[in-house]
Order: sequence, then structure tokens, then C-alpha cells
Amino acid sequence: MNFKMSIKKQLQELKSVLPKQVTLVAVSKTKPVQDLIKAYDVGQRIFGENKVQEMVEKYQQMPKDIEWHMIGHVQRNKVKYMAPFVDLIHGVDSLKLLSEINKQALKNNRCINGLLQIKIAAEDSKFGMTKNDAIQLMKSSEFKNLKNIKIKGVMGMATFTDDQNKIRKEFETLKSTFSELKSIQDSMHIISMGMSGDYPLAIECGSTMIRVGSYIFGARNYQ
Ligand SMILES: *Cc1c(COP(=O)(O)O)cnc(C)c1O
Repeated sequence: MNFKMSIKKQLQELKSVLPKQVTLVAVSKTKPVQDLIKAYDVGQRIFGENKVQEMVEKYQQMPKDIEWHMIGHVQRNKVKYMAPFVDLIHGVDSLKLLSEINKQALKNNRCINGLLQIKIAAEDSKFGMTKNDAIQLMKSSEFKNLKNIKIKGVMGMATFTDDQNKIRKEFETLKSTFSELKSIQDSMHIISMGMSGDYPLAIECGSTMIRVGSYIFGARNYQ
């Protein structure tokens, strides 16, 4: 018997249950390029990474019809390395970072998409802005002058807990924050929420983009 899990099978199973309005980001951080190729071979074209250097290396080795998403916290001095190719940056949480992305996008003569990361979990370790920070930011003239970055929606991470009610409340907070921000800028359409452990609940609460890693690629080894 073969107990080794199959990336292709996991991916196809997951895709078969996703509603069509939900986009799947295959989170491939820490995984070797051979694993990404398996997902690519069954049609996956959106990959998420949380470290800029690792994403650049994989970008160089993988086919060029892939959308690369940066899902991790971004240091401003690293933006330049991914600016030539990154499609969507999920963790935008300050005007300073927005300005840097705009500057590097302009240098590359392109437009980069971003999501505002909203803090929905109680834990201190999670990055993100409050709803009011996000509203203020989107109403500011500085924001309106940034022509080479487009904010397409919001991203959030729920508390790491078994308490489903708590997770549901946090996802609902993100959904309502999204609705408020959409009333400022109607072109917003992405709610990035849900990971391997909580994506069904996230979808119930209105997610339009899930970021799933270990369910597809197996547990990560951080040694
Ligand atoms: C690692 C990571 C994921 C995927 O986590 P899994 O539990 O493996 O699905 C999703 N979002 C972010 C921001 C991550 O860092």
C-alpha cells in the first residue's frame, strides 16, 4: 500500500468542492519546485509564497503563465525584487508600503495589485490594519495619487483556535469591513480569507479567495 499523499489528488478534490466564485491560491512556501510542478500539471496557475527571495527563485524556475501572490508580511526593502512579476500582494498594511510598491511598479512600467490586510485576530502576532485605519487610508489624497498599485480587496487571518464561533466572528468582521471599504471604492472585489483548517467556514462567511497550503502539499517541515 502507498501512504504517500498525492498532491494532484488533493488539489483536484479541493477544486471539485469549491464554489465557482472562490479563487484558490496554492500556498507552496517551503515546498520544492517539483511539488509546484505537480500542481501546475493539473491546471493550478496561482501560487502563494510568504518569502520574497523564495518566490523569486521559484518564479525563475517555473513556467511563465503563473500568477504569483505574496501572502506574507512584506519588508519595504524587498519589494523591488518581486516588482517585475508579482501579481497580487495580500499583506499591504501601511501607506509607506503602498508608496514603495507604487514606486517599484512604476519603475517596471506596470501596475501591481494589492489587498489591505485587516487585523481580525486577537493575537498580537498577526499583522494588519484596523478598519478605521483602512477607511482613513482609502480616503486620503496620498492614496488616490498612487496610480501603479490597485487595491482590489482585503485579506485577513483568523485566530489559531478550535473555537469555530470565534473564527466565524472574525471572518464576519472581515466581510463587513470589506463592504464598508467597497462603498469607498467600488472596484474592490476580493476577500482573501480561509486556509487549510478553516476554508469551508471562510467560504460560508463570504470568502472569494482561499489560501491553502498543507491540505494540498502536506505538512511543512521548517527545519
Ligand atoms: C502559510 C499560510 C497559509 C496556508 O496555510 P495552510 O494552513 O498550510 O493552508 C495561508 N495564508 C498565509 C498568510 C500563510 O502564511
